[in-house]
Amino acid sequence: MSISTSVLSDLLQTLPHVRPQLYFKASLTALSHAMEDQVLAATLDHPLVIASFQRERFYRQEAHRYQRLADRSNQIYVLAAPETDFSNSSGYYEKIAFEQEDGLSQEWHLVVVAQNYATCLVCRESSGSVSKNNQMPELNIGLDMETARRFEGIWTSDRLVCLKAAELLLERIVVYRPELASKIEHARQRFGIGVDNANRGVTQDLLSSYSKVEEIPLDFCDIDTDPFVQRLVTYLQASQYKLHKAYRSIAAQARKERLINSITTAIRRSLNPHEVLQVAVEELGQHLEASRCLIYRAQASDAIAKIEHEFLSPGVLSVVGQTWHLQNNPLFQAIAQQGEGISVVNTVGDDRINSDSELSLIAKKFAIRSMLMEPVLFQGRLLGIVELHYCSLPPHQWQPGELDLVKAIATQVGSALIQAEAYANLEDLNQQLEALDRTRSNLIAITGHELRTPLSTIQVCLESLASEPDMPLELQQVMLSTALTDSERMRKLVQDFLTLSNLESGRVQWHPESLTIEECVELAISRFRTRSATEKQPKIKSKIAQNLPLIRADGDWLVEVLAKIVDNACKFTPPQGEITIKANRNKEQMLEVTVADTGRGIEPNRLEVVFDRFYQEEGALRRTTGGTGLGLAICRQIVNGWGGEIWASSRGKDKGSEFHFTIPIVEGSQEHKRSKVKSQ
Ligand code: ADP
Repeated sequence: MSISTSVLSDLLQTLPHVRPQLYFKASLTALSHAMEDQVLAATLDHPLVIASFQRERFYRQEAHRYQRLADRSNQIYVLAAPETDFSNSSGYYEKIAFEQEDGLSQEWHLVVVAQNYATCLVCRESSGSVSKNNQMPELNIGLDMETARRFEGIWTSDRLVCLKAAELLLERIVVYRPELASKIEHARQRFGIGVDNANRGVTQDLLSSYSKVEEIPLDFCDIDTDPFVQRLVTYLQASQYKLHKAYRSIAAQARKERLINSITTAIRRSLNPHEVLQVAVEELGQHLEASRCLIYRAQASDAIAKIEHEFLSPGVLSVVGQTWHLQNNPLFQAIAQQGEGISVVNTVGDDRINSDSELSLIAKKFAIRSMLMEPVLFQGRLLGIVELHYCSLPPHQWQPGELDLVKAIATQVGSALIQAEAYANLEDLNQQLEALDRTRSNLIAITGHELRTPLSTIQVCLESLASEPDMPLELQQVMLSTALTDSERMRKLVQDFLTLSNLESGRVQWHPESLTIEECVELAISRFRTRSATEKQPKIKSKIAQNLPLIRADGDWLVEVLAKIVDNACKFTPPQGEITIKANRNKEQMLEVTVADTGRGIEPNRLEVVFDRFYQEEGALRRTTGGTGLGLAICRQIVNGWGGEIWASSRGKDKGSEFHFTIPIVEGSQEHKRSKVKSQ
């Protein structure tokens, strides 16, 4: 016979009426144990037991049972494909080490035959079942892989079938261990194995009348079947419980994956960190049924964090707008140092919280009973914290699954923040490039037009001075002063051009400080006065309101803006006119400064274009005022730099103009000075 054939196929061939069935591994284990227990129950007289294991390792799990079985019979044969030390031997029972290629290595058999009892289990592992090294990918969450293995075959108490199975297996044993031939022959004789139908003994005659029946009726054998059934039920229960647990863990895992997915999707869709953080707090807070879930940005060296993103369950007090102190917060410091999250089951009685008055105050004020702080890290760098609060009793016992989930979300949030940061950097870079591009076009404009005109005038003047030495002195003076005026204009133009280019490309250093608008206005006016002392100028009135708050801006730049606007107002207002400077707190809680004149005014469609580079109403060539056309463009850059706005208004031609701009206020400050009205 060939050892590569399957015992199951051989058996089915000889007994065509037997139909194989599908068994899960757990059922086979239960059935095998129940059959072995039947032998151990000592009601069988020296039965024949043949057990064939696919691999040595499966046998090893059962070896102790076979030692006990050996007390019941000397006809016990155990087969397995050896892996380490399993070999052909005769000890408590006969061991038969079959070859790897043997069909037996795909099969699982157990045959028990006694005088008044026979059961057999003859199965082959299904090809679609899990191979030992290759686990089913779709089930790799929480399910015990072994339970997914499937076998096809028969389990029966049909004595005919059992005898045939015993015959096939004994034949195979003799191939491996010929020295057992006589012992096996003894078993054959005793149980009538391999005897053809005509020569069958009494038992077979009795049985032949049941040949169409799958199982021997219970009254045929006087064996107590109770332990068998009990055993099966216990196994069934155990597998059911295992399955139930596996499904529960799969469901939890699926929920967790859905949550992480929805947050990941939000992250992919949005490059706006606020949006991402809001989605993350909402989803996480809801999923973990927290009272409050917060995510805030915080770096290891930060002193404070402002709470902006929050999930709240109904009836819980919001902490949005609160400032968390981080510098002396023992929990935050431990997280920043170790990069690991911290959970507190009960804030009442927690040493870390009690040791810090600020923390215990917050815990009390916002009824935080249990809390968790998880760092948002990216490549080891702390970017923020995910914080969960539970406010009700009993305190929340943190489960490992929850902690893992929060960690997973924190990781997603970390990548989202970095992604947004990278995008912002890219935007920044883009803006810088655009600014450079603007500088380039500025340069082309200035060299192509604005600089060429004065330069040619200077050239003409100097050339005539050089080529005509006889030129009258008076004319020489005119030539020289024209050249000087134009070179001064060029100097101003180049200076303004550089200032604007630096502002536009972000190469300007800002030094914001707390200032009073009054002192800045005074400085601007006095600077203006020294410059234009000789000419007759309109009257400048400073009407700064009382009790104005301090403002936050770079003082030098602020004076520059004021000076330029006042300078324009003077240029476009006749000497008998008037210029008024006012300042008030506006609806947006900014300080609004207004410089109003009674001059030539601006037409409505020009109110915005006056801020364009090189815009001058009368055109550069017909200029009478000596400006560069860059002043207002520079002012807009400066004001936008501190977060303010600048605009012009006018009631029309010759009805005067007003220039307005806003400056941020220093929070909580109030200036207490008497109102001053100054006039020039
Ligand atoms: P300039 O150096 O020519 O003053 P600006 O950018 O400061 O350049 O101003 C641009 C143009 O806006 C001016 O040439 C003028 O036409 C108009 N403008 C500015 N301020 C006033 C004002 N107070 N009244 C009327 N027109 C003004």
